[in-house]
Amino acid sequence: MLRSGASPNAFTFPFAIKSCAALSLPITGKQLHCHVFKTGLANNVLELYKEMESKGFCPDPVTLVGVLSSCAHLGALSVGKEVERKMEGFGFSSNPFLNNALINMYARCGNLKKARDIFDGMPVKSVVSWTAIIGGYGMHGQGEVAVELFDEMIRGGIKPDGTAFVSVLSACSHAGLTNKGLDYFGVMERKYRLWPGAEHYSCMVDLLGRAGRLNEARELIESMQVRADGALWGALLGACKIHRNVELAELAFERVIELEPTNTGYYVLLSNVYTEARNLEGILRVRMLMRERKLKKDPGCSYVEFKGRVHLFFAGDRNHPQTNEIYKKLNELENLVKDLDGCKKNDHERREEYLNSMGVHSEKLAVAFALLNTRKETEIIIIKNLRICGDCHLFIKLVSKIVDRQFVVRDATRFHHFKNGFCSCKEYW
Ligand SMILES: [Zn+2]
Ligand SMILES: [Zn+2]
Repeated sequence: MLRSGASPNAFTFPFAIKSCAALSLPITGKQLHCHVFKTGLANNVLELYKEMESKGFCPDPVTLVGVLSSCAHLGALSVGKEVERKMEGFGFSSNPFLNNALINMYARCGNLKKARDIFDGMPVKSVVSWTAIIGGYGMHGQGEVAVELFDEMIRGGIKPDGTAFVSVLSACSHAGLTNKGLDYFGVMERKYRLWPGAEHYSCMVDLLGRAGRLNEARELIESMQVRADGALWGALLGACKIHRNVELAELAFERVIELEPTNTGYYVLLSNVYTEARNLEGILRVRMLMRERKLKKDPGCSYVEFKGRVHLFFAGDRNHPQTNEIYKKLNELENLVKDLDGCKKNDHERREEYLNSMGVHSEKLAVAFALLNTRKETEIIIIKNLRICGDCHLFIKLVSKIVDRQFVVRDATRFHHFKNGFCSCKEYW
């Protein structure tokens, strides 16, 4: 089924995992379990936990680590906090595995400060703890801190492993620290005898791509000893979008869909490359291809947690109880944004909006909702399932200036911290 390109869903996994149990195949079971997390269906390994609890079972640390990684994946901060309270209640507060999972959960749910507090409070820090906090700073675009921590870890006598290198390389790529990243990549093999895998190469492609060194990125992929995966060619495709390189984007797209034929994100990326290049023929070709293959764009959705409840919005959504107020607020904000001098949307952005639109994008609804309901000092954290589009990115930047609020948006690739008209990603995502 996987080879044919079909995606398993929430109903497929339980049957497959039960078969593993019946056949006594623990390793295959674990692999499937991991796959559940990767496909984002883990909010179900959360429902299971609630069911367990209601039946009076006491969770052990292993279960709680699983719950925390689900929370990290979903951005479910309030459940994560609940787990932290339970850890204290069960006397697991000093369990290092749980603390590592907590660091990761807080960082991925947008609360980097709390992640750092937990890290600082750990009496013994393993390479996993360091990797979790370095990764946290990396995904929030604070590459300089991540690099400092990585060097501090080495000075403290802890030997980095392959995963630690992934987190520092990705931190370098998110912050545009090209030379630093290239140095680490070299040191990895020379000094630590760690052979780079596909994830390390992905970071390097991202790093070189961000710096506009697209041909070097391509040469790196072609020269590597490991098999390229979808993420690698996807990173190159993303870089081609930023630097508007149509020719290389087409090549990266061809390769990436050989590996992941049903990943609609890549079709949308190529379509965006064509949009930037004003190549209407290309846009239509991508659409045809998607139609032939019976692929539909994943619906965009965003959510905000407010008073312990998750408020979920789809594109063009009108189901929220505050819908009328939300659209009124949004209209008000759109007008203010348009009035802001020198920041008029240019043509291609408008077209991108048109081509991507299934109504108002979900993150705009989440922004309007948050502004209606939260007080000025509250930091607003929005989780979005897809990459944020150029129009919404510009919109949130300007709104952060107009209303003088900070917004944190986690999209499919990274965190964006919007403040005073600027974003921490410096326009690269
Ligand atoms: Zn958008
Ligand atoms: Zn950004």
